[in-house]
Amino acid sequence: MTTFDVVVVGAGAAGLLAATHAAERGRRTLLLEKSARPGLKILISGGGRCNVTTTKLGRELEAQFGARRGRFLRHALRAFQPPAVRAMFEAAGVALREEDLDKIFPVSQKARDVLDALLRIASAAGVELRRGVAVQDVERQANGFRLALAEGEVTAASVVLATGGLSYPKTGATGDGYPWLRRLGHTITPTFPALAPLVVETGWVRELAGIVLEGVDLSSIGADGKVITTRRRPVLFTHLGLSGPAPMDLSGDVEEAGGARVRFDFWPEQNREAIERGWLEHARRHGTQRAESLLPRELPERMRATLVELAGAGGTLANLAQKPRRRLLELVRGLPIDVPRSRGYAHAEVTRGGVALEEIDARTMQSGKVPGLFVCGELLDIDGPIGGFNFQAAFATGRLAGLHA
Ligand SMILES: Cc1cc2nc3c(=O)[nH]c(=O)nc-3n(C[C@H](O)[C@H](O)[C@H](O)COP(=O)(O)OP(=O)(O)OC[C@H]3O[C@@H](n4cnc5c(N)ncnc54)[C@H](O)[C@@H]3O)c2cc1C
Repeated sequence: MTTFDVVVVGAGAAGLLAATHAAERGRRTLLLEKSARPGLKILISGGGRCNVTTTKLGRELEAQFGARRGRFLRHALRAFQPPAVRAMFEAAGVALREEDLDKIFPVSQKARDVLDALLRIASAAGVELRRGVAVQDVERQANGFRLALAEGEVTAASVVLATGGLSYPKTGATGDGYPWLRRLGHTITPTFPALAPLVVETGWVRELAGIVLEGVDLSSIGADGKVITTRRRPVLFTHLGLSGPAPMDLSGDVEEAGGARVRFDFWPEQNREAIERGWLEHARRHGTQRAESLLPRELPERMRATLVELAGAGGTLANLAQKPRRRLLELVRGLPIDVPRSRGYAHAEVTRGGVALEEIDARTMQSGKVPGLFVCGELLDIDGPIGGFNFQAAFATGRLAGLHA
């Protein structure tokens, strides 16, 4: 049996950083990856281009994860801000550049370059990486841990678990870490697919397949009618429902609620009374025009026609009665759509829920239940929106674990 100072389980973004930092401290470090191809999720991320991090910093960065999760991540993110992630890649020969929505991508547009750099950095630090080795269980021993493998076992003074969540199971993320951690005394909060396209059964939504909206607000609405999350990011209508950054960002809320309502605001910057005054004035001057002419010009024609139809506001402005006009205004400022579910884990970029944060030391990623045990990356109850936030969190928590394991 082989003994190591540190065994890291899972060679994704979090595990690669954890192993690198442990090895750089002179710890004899083994990184076990069940897939023959480590970092598979990095390769398929960002449409094969890998959005490694964001330009957002400090509080604004932390806020992306919500108040509670952001508070937990504060130490990790402040100790390894996006500029430090960028510097790590640039030093490894991967030039980066900024794109829309504050995203950072490799100039080469190749996720392969990102993964190769991480593997090179780990190897240079002295990490021993074993591919195609699935850990089957993790147990405490008198002086550390025993890890059961398909063939044989290894022991270690410290263990870092970085097995990821449940999303895109074909990449190797099949929730293996949850039962081990439960047996070791940890709480696993309920898990849900997040950052997945939304399934909508309403006919008119599917008929709009192909249109893209920008500059509109999309909100998830709780059972109490209150807004949970609002996003002003692109929305794509598809033959199955809604996709693109805003709908995907809201999918975790929809799943957590077991189905929810989302609401569009097509004219978020405008004051309601000002719109109504403008409409009356427009109708007075252009009575022969149709109600579509009242709607923001930036909206695609098919979207405008649908809004008018839903409001029952067809015909000329001269004949538009107050009731359908008011109804049109209601829809422009708050068109509701019922969303029964997202497309699930097979299409979800991340998992919401995981190891309860109260049980992990936010300054070290060490378990508060089992000394010598560390947890990082998506396995934790952490998920961020689209935009490089999930890699940023995985890198930062992985690094902290490696610095203390
Ligand atoms: C399609 C897609 C696109 C994405 N795009 C982006 C993006 O552009 N930007 C961004 O920030 N985020 C993106 N994400 C999210 C991001 O990829 C994840 O949040 C991040 O990879 C999580 O890293 P991790 O190391 O915690 O887990 P993972 O990357 O899931 O790594 C876990 C590793 O553990 C291994 N493992 C699991 N069980 C065992 C076991 N029993 N024994 C040994 N090894 C095991 C797995 O094989 C896997 O390699 C995307 C995700 C997907 C699915």
